[in-house]
Amino acid sequence: MSKSGRKVVLIGTGMVGMSFAYAALNQNVCSELVLCDINEKKAIGEAQDLNHGLAFSESSMKIYQGGYEECHDAEIVLICAGVNQKPKETRLELLKRNEAVFRSIIEPVIQSGFDGIFLVATNPVDIMTQITCSLSGFEPSRVIGTGTTLDTARLRYLLGNYFDVSPKNVHAYVIGEHGDSEFVPWSQALISTKPVLDIIEDNPHLFTKKHLDEISENVKNAAGQIIAAKGATYYGIGMASARIVRAIFSDENAVLTTSVLLEGEYGQNDVFAGNPCIINRNGVSRKIELSLTDGELEKLNRSCDILRFSLRADSNI
Ligand code: NAD
Repeated sequence: MSKSGRKVVLIGTGMVGMSFAYAALNQNVCSELVLCDINEKKAIGEAQDLNHGLAFSESSMKIYQGGYEECHDAEIVLICAGVNQKPKETRLELLKRNEAVFRSIIEPVIQSGFDGIFLVATNPVDIMTQITCSLSGFEPSRVIGTGTTLDTARLRYLLGNYFDVSPKNVHAYVIGEHGDSEFVPWSQALISTKPVLDIIEDNPHLFTKKHLDEISENVKNAAGQIIAAKGATYYGIGMASARIVRAIFSDENAVLTTSVLLEGEYGQNDVFAGNPCIINRNGVSRKIELSLTDGELEKLNRSCDILRFSLRADSNI
């Protein structure tokens, strides 16, 4: 354990990693942040830049560039490192290259004596989280993917706008793969304590299921739209990662749709997927198994099948 008890080693100081770092600094979510990247020069520059903001911040965070040895007493290792898709490269080819990147990261992290919690943001996040679990040999409760945390935040924002209510009072989740097969189990979506589907039935002139389906499509397509507009997405996932780190360090028991190993829930096994989880100092303390309808279960099965297929196709695991 680190002296502060709130040490994070960030591996990958690209757009996503540094968006996390900026959010973490401004929200004071950790006491010590080590920036680690294959491009050491960049990590040094990023640390310098952030440190110059300390005078304007509430935080007295220690921020510095470091190597894998820094993981030995860290509470959290956050992985945002990855390679980008090359023109004409398939998703599977990208997955194989990112798996090689993860092998080069997980091994030295474990050799350092790291005994904390892995948080993974690199895409395809569910699969990279499963790879991290397998390579590290850690118990699955200490290997967390950002999963559909960001998608759920997007959903709550859009539903809040639609029903004219604060997103804080929207209780609805995106589950399954962080990707094309993710979906919203509408039977489980509430505004305050009232099911969204009941609100629609009671107010057919104001709200419709068609609009809800448009909202879930918008959530699914959000990343693509942002990438088309500005080349990449990073602030949202940086803030989602900071939110998860805060839940861990505050021992918060917060419900977040992280990517976790399903072990019998919904009849699924051996697959990491986004699901509401209770997150605290131990990592994933519990998973909430939603009461899905038959149709929703079918969608989840399909999403898990897609994830399993991708992982098997990457025969190195
Ligand atoms: P980026 O290219 O800006 O940064 C990647 C960083 O990883 C670079 O600094 C690079 O030097 C570093 N890196 C590469 N190989 C490394 C290695 N072997 N060891 C250490 N560092 C290494 O990319 P980005 O925009 O920051 O995206 C990072 C990842 O986050 C991507 O996989 C992206 O798809 C993913 N992402 C996830 C979500 C989500 O919701 N989970 C959202 C957006 C992006």
